[in-house]
Amino acid sequence: MDTVLYLAHTQSDETLSKGALEALTAAKELTAQLGSANLVVAILGGDVQTAADSVADCGASKFLGVSGEAFAQSRYATDAAAIEALCRTAQPAIVLCGSSSRFNRVLPGVASRLGGCADLHATEVKADGGSTSITRWYYRQRIRAAQVRDKRPWFVALETGSDAPWITAGGKAAVESVPVALPESSLRTTVEGLQKPPGQTQTIRPDADLLYVAGAGWTKKQADGEAHIQDAESIILDFLGKTQASLGGSKSLVDISGTGQAVLSFMTHLNQIGQTGAIPRHPKGLSTCCHGEEPHAVGWRFIHERRAINLDANCGWAHGKADVLYVADAFEVMRKVNALLEKS
Ligand SMILES: Cc1cc2nc3c(=O)[nH]c(=O)nc-3n(C[C@H](O)[C@H](O)[C@H](O)COP(=O)(O)OP(=O)(O)OC[C@H]3O[C@@H](n4cnc5c(N)ncnc54)[C@H](O)[C@@H]3O)c2cc1C
Repeated sequence: MDTVLYLAHTQSDETLSKGALEALTAAKELTAQLGSANLVVAILGGDVQTAADSVADCGASKFLGVSGEAFAQSRYATDAAAIEALCRTAQPAIVLCGSSSRFNRVLPGVASRLGGCADLHATEVKADGGSTSITRWYYRQRIRAAQVRDKRPWFVALETGSDAPWITAGGKAAVESVPVALPESSLRTTVEGLQKPPGQTQTIRPDADLLYVAGAGWTKKQADGEAHIQDAESIILDFLGKTQASLGGSKSLVDISGTGQAVLSFMTHLNQIGQTGAIPRHPKGLSTCCHGEEPHAVGWRFIHERRAINLDANCGWAHGKADVLYVADAFEVMRKVNALLEKS
């Protein structure tokens, strides 16, 4: 009987992330599709009991854990040793986890140690007639491929937004602690802390329902012949504060900030979306003052409801990139939207 190993790491508050819970949905479905397979949960972190309890009723036959101070933070050597030990204990055919920088960095190395293989950035995993396959996008989300692999164990990291998170009341999980032999050298790297990007405000919220995209138009001269950067800043921050939307920026806008021109002070290169930026997967997207050219609109296919506000009725959004285009002044529209949000 094949084992599907669901792999997760805890967050700083000892819980599992939304992406990790989405991967559990996929792991449960895959186990059911494989018919005679067995689901095992493996969690690593400082203390894994809270996380294990939160998914105690997921139907896993076993809960494995690696915990302790050495595993509380992301570090290649200790993470690799922990995952290797978990896999040697569970002997899985498939290892499924949610994509995270922590796992994406370490999985290919662990797969190599175990003679297996790893695919990151998968968006679907399924079994048909006993054969497991994944779906992945290539060429900056323009080509979709279905892939199978012969090597086992096969590590698959699923992108967030690919499944619904598996959330229940949980219960009490009996976690079997897996020992990990850590050589002295694996503790050479010490994590001193986390540094936030230089923006004044935290504006990137991967789990938000709405992606709000600001384009370079916010910094351009308006009908009165003047640019209104301060107004743009307060309108956008007001909207983000009220909706808790995630902020994306077009390449033009984030590049202007790189050249030291007057721009939105909270916008950094980390906000850039599109071909050479991030490819977020929020349920809804609203683009403002952004032209909607192809490189910038790459990835919008993953957004289910797409709207845009632009003065130009012939902008890219009007050519099939948005479901609804408001041909209007975004300053006016967003002020009105903020006023309506204030009332509601
Ligand atoms: C190889 C390559 C890769 C690239 N990768 C990316 C990428 O990853 N991401 C990306 O974003 N770009 C990328 N670009 C650049 C991209 O093609 C565009 O040049 C850029 O994104 C345009 O930004 P923009 O629409 O914000 O600005 P602009 O093209 O300057 O458009 C501003 C828009 O604002 C509108 N506007 C102005 N005032 C108002 C108002 N008051 N109300 C409403 N609308 C208003 C205007 O009508 C205009 O449409 C790439 C380009 C290349 C060649």
